[in-house]
Amino acid sequence: LELAEPPAPWPVRQAAAVDESVFDLTYFYETIGFLYRRDEHELLADSPALALGGLPGGSSAIRQHTTVGTIPELHAEQCTGCLQCSAVCPDVALPVTIQEPASLLRAGIARAEKARGPFLQFGRVQENYLKLAYRIVQKDDLHQFTGLKGLAQETYRQLVELMKPADDVRQALEGEFQAILEALADVPIVRTEHFFDQFHAQQKGSGQIFSLVVDPDACKSCGLCAAACPEGALDMVPVTEEKVSELRAQRDFLLELPEVPLDFLEKLPVEDDEIRTMLPLLNRSVYYSLYGGDNAPAGSGGKIALHLVTAAVEREMRPRIQRFIAQLDQMIETLEKNIQGQVSGSLHINDFEAFAEELSHLEKKKVDIGQLASLVVETEQRPEKLDKELLELQSRTVHELKTLREKLQEGMSGRGRARLLAALEKGSIAFWSGIFPYNPLPFPWVARENSPAVAEGLLEGLMARMVESIRIYRKGKLVADGLYEPQKHEEELQTLQYQDLTEEEKALLPPVWVIGGDAMFSGNSLAALQRILHSQLPIKILIVDNQGLALTTGTHANTGFGHRYRQRVEVALNALFSRQAFVAQGSVGYPALLFRQATQLVQFDGPGLLVVDAPEPVAQGITPRQVLELSRLAVATRTFPLFTFNPREGEGFQAALDISANPEPEAEWVTETVALPYEEGRQLPLTPAHWAVRQLRYRKYFRYIPKKEWTPDLVPLLEYLTLPADEQRNVTPYIEVVYKKQLWRVAVAPEIAANVADRQRTWQMLQELSGIRSSLVEQLRAEAKEEMEKELAVRQAALEKEFQEKQAALESQHDRIYHQKLKERLLQLSGFPQNAQKLAMKLKDLVGGNGHSEEEGK
Ligand code: SF4
Ligand code: SF4
Repeated sequence: LELAEPPAPWPVRQAAAVDESVFDLTYFYETIGFLYRRDEHELLADSPALALGGLPGGSSAIRQHTTVGTIPELHAEQCTGCLQCSAVCPDVALPVTIQEPASLLRAGIARAEKARGPFLQFGRVQENYLKLAYRIVQKDDLHQFTGLKGLAQETYRQLVELMKPADDVRQALEGEFQAILEALADVPIVRTEHFFDQFHAQQKGSGQIFSLVVDPDACKSCGLCAAACPEGALDMVPVTEEKVSELRAQRDFLLELPEVPLDFLEKLPVEDDEIRTMLPLLNRSVYYSLYGGDNAPAGSGGKIALHLVTAAVEREMRPRIQRFIAQLDQMIETLEKNIQGQVSGSLHINDFEAFAEELSHLEKKKVDIGQLASLVVETEQRPEKLDKELLELQSRTVHELKTLREKLQEGMSGRGRARLLAALEKGSIAFWSGIFPYNPLPFPWVARENSPAVAEGLLEGLMARMVESIRIYRKGKLVADGLYEPQKHEEELQTLQYQDLTEEEKALLPPVWVIGGDAMFSGNSLAALQRILHSQLPIKILIVDNQGLALTTGTHANTGFGHRYRQRVEVALNALFSRQAFVAQGSVGYPALLFRQATQLVQFDGPGLLVVDAPEPVAQGITPRQVLELSRLAVATRTFPLFTFNPREGEGFQAALDISANPEPEAEWVTETVALPYEEGRQLPLTPAHWAVRQLRYRKYFRYIPKKEWTPDLVPLLEYLTLPADEQRNVTPYIEVVYKKQLWRVAVAPEIAANVADRQRTWQMLQELSGIRSSLVEQLRAEAKEEMEKELAVRQAALEKEFQEKQAALESQHDRIYHQKLKERLLQLSGFPQNAQKLAMKLKDLVGGNGHSEEEGK
């Protein structure tokens, strides 16, 4: 075959060539994929893949998307390493990593040495060079070094300045360093607080550089990452040829860097909750749990949701499988040592000739220990020294364990056993995931109607296989521990059933996922879905919800009942009442929460449902950049409330239901504060109508009202909802929205108003179910309030009476004092003594002491 140009994409380079089957990505790429990559598929002869209708997982990665339009550019000095952009990129085009500065530079050194051989001069100073690079990053508070090449050059400059080498050494060093510089890609380097400063503070020298690159072949120019960046660190810039080749070089370099192990990520002391949740995305296998290059529309919310779910599955399943493989390895090692011990103990040096003779009869070039052992038994002169049966049992067991290990390690695709199996409901995700030859799903899937029923069948088959694997594992353990007794154990092993497995063994079963969209809200699919949720089957269901509001869809021709009403199906709320299934509503606008919910769902040992609000730009009449904003608005307006119901959490229904991820979970509505030119801090309650008015698909249900038409029959929507039906008929509900810094009234159609009332009831119900609000508590609270008000009224009346009496008493006392003072003053002014007694005496003197009592004197 002709070698493909440009070089094979990264997933192809990663995948080991396996069996040249339709599931072998390397084989696919080398036979037909490269022609698609070169856009020369007219040269394609009939493909076996076409004939069989199968495609290897991740074949979409061969595609090169970006040729026109714009592409994100990172301003590393503004980036904080929050991972938001990478988490919401629908096309898996923003791989991220954290590495020690030395690890980044070593990758360049290794590349250069691979091309030119070991560096003599640089080799001598390499360790000092790497330490110095760390110090430069640590001191770079101003974020001057935002590209790897800049850091490499500055480190070299400072090193030479410190070393002051002789001219000839300097020249040799310079030549070697130039080769390293060329081998490096100028990947962005970001010194962040949580990956560098915090780590360094905890342990000197442990700071990690954050890096993020744009894969120009997978990027669909949707701009969602730039819209998601809270720091404004991503700009969309025009695509140029130079830009694309620069980004390709960066991507290839980043993907060659050492993997960031999941157990390392788990121990990182990152304080920020959201970032800690999304740390697994720094692991390459987790990030590439789905590929770009498919036919999903740019900015597809459905693909963001699917990526976060598959990433959560990989995050959970990979360590489980690795632990299991490690156990198998240990058993294999024990058994091989055992066999070796027995064989070497019984072999005589004189036997080697006969042994060699026997060996020459074997056709295979490589012989495993089991075959060797059987050979020894055949040729051994003193077979009584060997327990032939035991040796055969051990070598057979080693062979079985190794076969099992190989299946887990490599699987059909060469990338290990599939982490999940999916039954895709026809339409929705299956619509874009299965278009030949671009398959972004690196796991087996089948697209059918009534996918839940298909999933049940898949699960049954998987369980049977799982039991077979565990049988091999259990027997291997018994044999390795020297405890195996055929009479005692064989029957038990042969009759092993799935329900007999331990929880740890069951956790190895690859989860079966049913994945679909609105099509699952009706017919057989809905019935099968309900059946699963009421069962014990560990089937997981992902529904990408785009149904929006319940609206009329025309006149019902047959019944004469007027409008046909498309009922909104609350499948997640209904599922809550099974009480035993894990149920959650998530949103692509909250990627960390969605990733956590998906992880919890994988960890849950029973059935589970995850319904995700995932806007689709074309269907909803929005731009790709508005996807996140709209999904967050759906949550803020209570159109699509978030919740997680985990029956294993706490005791009782209320403890299991968590709605705290919603903004202001205790409030009925979230209030937005808007600034207007003439009014600061205007408060607007957000309702589902505010979410709907942003979308083209609901345009006909709204009308902007000019100010001159603001008549008294316009009633605020929330007030309208409290009116009796006959009064509602005489008025028009409206909402207030801010458009171009002006406040507008927008008339709302009755259908939308009915939906707002419906969403309000749903939200109240969730508040009640989670214990945030309870009708009984509300009633008790109202009664207590009434009683307190009555008591207060009585106390107030008593206080008022007391006050009035005191006031009257004071007033009369005041009058007396006032009159006394007035009299005294008047007397004083008229020249009489102030004292009444003195006055009386004076009067007595004046009238000759007759006829006047003291009282008269007063
Ligand atoms: S523009 Fe879209 S596809 Fe490209 S990297 Fe950003 S989010 Fe991903
Ligand atoms: S969203 Fe912005 S700040 Fe966060 S990692 Fe991406 S570029 Fe950096």
